[in-house]
Amino acid sequence: MIELDGVRKHFGAVPVLKGITARVAKGEVVCVIGPSGSGKSTLLRCINGLESYDGGEIRVNGTRVDRTKREIRTVRTQVSMVFQRFNLFPHRTALENVIEGPVYVKGEPKADAAERGRALLARVGLAGREAARPAQLSGGQQQRVAIARALAMRPDAILFDEPTSALDPELVGEVLGVMRALAEEGMTMLVVTHEIGFAREVADRVLFLDHGVIVEEGPARAVLTDPGQARTRDFLRRVL
Ligand code: ADP
Ligand code: MG
Repeated sequence: MIELDGVRKHFGAVPVLKGITARVAKGEVVCVIGPSGSGKSTLLRCINGLESYDGGEIRVNGTRVDRTKREIRTVRTQVSMVFQRFNLFPHRTALENVIEGPVYVKGEPKADAAERGRALLARVGLAGREAARPAQLSGGQQQRVAIARALAMRPDAILFDEPTSALDPELVGEVLGVMRALAEEGMTMLVVTHEIGFAREVADRVLFLDHGVIVEEGPARAVLTDPGQARTRDFLRRVL
C-alpha cells in the first residue's frame, strides 16, 4: 500500500533522508523508532505530501506522491495523519473537528458526516463529548478526537507521528489502547513512537532510523529484543 524506493530529502545542504526504501502492506502495522532528528517526521510528511522530496519515489496505492500534481489530493484522502500535538481546531467542537474533512474536503452531506462522526467519537471512547471544545478535553481525549478525525476520512492507512509524546504519562495508555484496537481491526498503520512496549506487542515490523538511514528492520520482536546492529542496541538501551 505504501512503497518508498530510495527516497532522498535535503533541507538546504543538509541531507535528512538518505535513500529510504521501505514497504507497508495492507493491514500491516509498522513502527518507526530512532533518535530525535533522525528524519522520522520528515519521512511521514513526505508520504502524505506535506513535504516534497528530492529523489527516489513514494507510491501510495500505486500512485506516485508528487506535490506538484493533483494526485496529492487523492493521497491525502487515502492516508490520514495523527500528529504529536493533536492539531485540532481550538474554536470548534470535537464533532466539528471530526466532520471537517468529510464535509469540506470530500463534500459529504453534513448530516451523514455528523452521524458517522458521533459513531467514531463513541468508538474512541468519547460518546457524550461531541460538543466539547479541545480546551475542555484532556490531552488524551484530544488525541482520541484526532484519531476519530483521521478515521472520518475513511483512510486506507494512518500515519502516527509520536502520538503519545506530548501526553502526561497517565494518559498514554488510553491513546495506545485505541491504536491497538485499530490495529486489531486490520487498519494499515505506520507509527513513529518511543513506546517500545507498544511496538513489541502491536507492530508486525519495526524500522530503526538513524541519521536518515534505515539501519535495521525486521519483525518487531527480533529488532526490539535481539537487535543485530550496535546502533539499535545503543538506542534501545537509552529509551528503555
Ligand atoms: P525526527 O522526527 O526523527 O526527530 P525530523 O524529521 O523532524 O526528525 O528532522 C530531521 C532533521 O531535519 C533534523 O535535523 C531537523 O532539524 C531537520 N529539519 C526538519 N524540518 C526542517 C525544516 N522545515 N527546515 C530545516 N530543517 C528541518
Ligand atoms: Mg519527529
